[in-house]
Amino acid sequence: MTALVWFRNDLRSLDHPALTAACGKHDQVRAIYILCPQQLDHHGIAPIRRHFLRSALDALSQQLADLGIPLDIIDSGHFKDVPDTLDLYCREHSITALHAHKEWLVDEIQRDNACAERINIPFYLIDDSLLSPDRITKADGQPYKVFTPFSRLCRKELAAAFPRVIPSPPAKTRATPIKPVKCPRFGPEKDSSAWPSNQEDTLTQLRQFCAERANDYQKHRDFPALDGTSRLSAVLAHGIISPRQCLARLQMECGDEIWDAKSDAGTWFNELLWREFYRHVAYHFPRVVMGRAFQVNTEAIAWPNDPDLFQAWCEGRTGYPIVDAAMRQLTETGWMHNRLRMISASFLCKDLHIDWRWGERYFLENLIDADFASNNGGWQWAASTGTDAAPYFRIFNPTTQGLRFDPDGDFILRFIPELKGLTGKQLHQPPEHGDYPTPIIDHKERRNITLALFQEIRD
Ligand SMILES: Cc1cc2nc3c(=O)[nH]c(=O)nc-3n(C[C@H](O)[C@H](O)[C@H](O)COP(=O)(O)OP(=O)(O)OC[C@H]3O[C@@H](n4cnc5c(N)ncnc54)[C@H](O)[C@@H]3O)c2cc1C
Repeated sequence: MTALVWFRNDLRSLDHPALTAACGKHDQVRAIYILCPQQLDHHGIAPIRRHFLRSALDALSQQLADLGIPLDIIDSGHFKDVPDTLDLYCREHSITALHAHKEWLVDEIQRDNACAERINIPFYLIDDSLLSPDRITKADGQPYKVFTPFSRLCRKELAAAFPRVIPSPPAKTRATPIKPVKCPRFGPEKDSSAWPSNQEDTLTQLRQFCAERANDYQKHRDFPALDGTSRLSAVLAHGIISPRQCLARLQMECGDEIWDAKSDAGTWFNELLWREFYRHVAYHFPRVVMGRAFQVNTEAIAWPNDPDLFQAWCEGRTGYPIVDAAMRQLTETGWMHNRLRMISASFLCKDLHIDWRWGERYFLENLIDADFASNNGGWQWAASTGTDAAPYFRIFNPTTQGLRFDPDGDFILRFIPELKGLTGKQLHQPPEHGDYPTPIIDHKERRNITLALFQEIRD
């Protein structure tokens, strides 16, 4: 009787309910990760994320080997072939039960349904979310479309039943030790070693953040030159740690302050809830992950989509320093600070008049922490096409955003050395300066066009 644990976006051995359930019920446990390189190519995966994923799988293989559990990494080519790949594996290894965590995006739900039909053994799907997207609903059973009441109910539920972190299961006794495997390369890579991809280093990072920086989160989180946020998004996106672990550690360090949404710790907690919210939205409104706008009427906006402007944005040469520094941070590090994601996304849609889906795709292709639901939610928020939409007339001014959130230009100068020598307002609105481009658009003019584009669909 051998159970199989199917790892997906949950690449850890601690606080892993599916692994714990399989180990509790079966003497023999194996683990599988099914790679779908064609699917990853189709959705866009950053070279840095390929490297990160491979490192995370190597680390997972070692952790599982220490527990006496062999991990096999199987290449299934395309997503649609996963049920056949899994069925074959189960037959070859005489698997009698399959355990995994539930996934909530429409394609993943369909894949799991197809697998359940194909394999002839019990398939146990356990929920691994902080709060299941189908559990948090309004009193009338309808899903939430606005974050604040959603987060209020989440807090209430979590205060009533604080999530428990499950320890790693005890190691299985094996006659011969398990040899960890190495994940093969599956496409062009960029080194990701600046980002810890194993659970030990990640837990250290979490502990340090909660102990040393969570108390200043509100004060620092909007300033990209500061180390004010946790930088845990890549490990959360790949499930190297769970949001339960984050919340438990936050409570351990900050106590009851976490329940006050206006406190520093409570604000960080809120960010974890934003992540849950976008999953909730993607589950209840699957059109958003199929390239559709949440606010259906905004699909009528005729975005002009100038490819040259898009290229300048991607390459960080729009002539707006805060936007260019943000885009260069993305290219160089595979990550972008949240304030900058908001500024650069707003700039693409509301200054360059490019469809938010272009930006969404570009972020998926470049971010180490790319997460379908959060990325989509962030883009639709910035474009005013989503839930909780920032009113369409609230348009970020890139110059004032720069002055406010990078007043001395410390961040800008880190990524745009051409601007060295400039200070104050000149740094945020540079005159002709060496090789640095002059602004490719006039913000005031473009803002008026945006207002007109949105006005058209309101009439
Ligand atoms: C246009 C746009 C695109 C985005 N794309 C992604 C994406 O692909 N993947 C991703 O994980 N986040 C995305 N975000 C949300 C946010 O920018 C990142 O989660 C955050 O910058 C990660 O840095 P951190 O780990 O230091 O966050 P912290 O501030 O330390 O927050 C802790 C965790 O909470 C979650 N979180 C924080 N803010 C948000 C948010 N606004 N929405 C959802 N979850 C949040 C993340 O998991 C994050 O790691 C996007 C935001 C925007 C505006």
